[in-house]
Amino acid sequence: MNIGGQLGGNMEIESRVTGNSRLAGLIGNPVGHSISPQLHNTISKYVGIDMVYVPFKVEKTELENAVKGLKAIDIVGFNVTIPYKKEIMKYIDINSKEALLMGAVNTVKNIGGRLYGYNTDAEGFVRSFKEEAGTGFENKKVVLIGAGGTARAIAVKTAMEGAGRIYIVNRTIERALDIADIVNNNIERICEAFDPDEAEAAGIFSKGDIIINTTPLGMYPDVDKSPVRDSVKFSDRQIVYDVIYNPEKTKFLADAEKCGCKTINGFGMLIYQGIYAYEIWTGVKIPEKLVKEILKAFYQILQ
Ligand code: NAP
Repeated sequence: MNIGGQLGGNMEIESRVTGNSRLAGLIGNPVGHSISPQLHNTISKYVGIDMVYVPFKVEKTELENAVKGLKAIDIVGFNVTIPYKKEIMKYIDINSKEALLMGAVNTVKNIGGRLYGYNTDAEGFVRSFKEEAGTGFENKKVVLIGAGGTARAIAVKTAMEGAGRIYIVNRTIERALDIADIVNNNIERICEAFDPDEAEAAGIFSKGDIIINTTPLGMYPDVDKSPVRDSVKFSDRQIVYDVIYNPEKTKFLADAEKCGCKTINGFGMLIYQGIYAYEIWTGVKIPEKLVKEILKAFYQILQ
């Protein structure tokens, strides 16, 4: 280390953070892979809001203390990532109705010491789907592969968006049944659960207008994996979405593309969940022109 080696009498004052700067952040474990600090600090720079976004790696035993600490220092708000999206809910004063149905919070706003919990993952998914597919979910048959946290949020949201049927396919059928019950008992009786064998036998994959992978199968470095068997074929009227964004084109999407399907990856979902979180914290609507620039810039850094 060469401390002071490049001074030469022309010191540049670092003024990005001042005495008036507000704080936002991310809690999770791990957090090192996250692009959220770059995303939120870039948005602040371009909308001119004096707010700094910092990642906090929090151990499970310290989650409650971390939340109390963030409240005590009057944080504007924070994101929550794996593995705390569910657990965080018990430390939140008011969880939104959607977040309660989804069983997960990824965005928290602090208003005068009261914490409000939201789920912007599903909102981000819907916006990215609608923009890239050029259509919505109304009366559509939706096949969801996987029954974890992301599947639950997407099932609830697509049901709220007016989906005609939702078929959930998961290797652990009990988890798929749980999500189907939540949708059927709270939104509309449109949801059925299948294990992969039953789904194939019942021709579920060809019934769907929209097929969505919510499992990590095919994510880097396991790029040769797919959430469906090779025997499953799609048709060109179907829209196929993968929540994975690394690689840009998973095996699942590449196979669907070969069948002539419109395919979409999870990059838009990732960016839009962040944009919605930022808007919740600040009350500022991010201009469309800036949103497009953000998508372009972050698409390049994720390549
Ligand atoms: P999760 O709660 O752990 O659920 C994972 C699901 O995948 C479960 O249904 C699990 O089945 C299934 N699964 C996992 N490994 C499998 C295997 N080898 N064979 C068959 N099924 C398998 O995870 P999550 O939080 O929902 O996240 C899922 C994916 O979404 C991750 O890749 C994550 O990175 C991605 N994601 C993307 C965004 C975005 O912004 N684009 C946002 C959130 C999440 P069982 O129930 O049988 O265990």
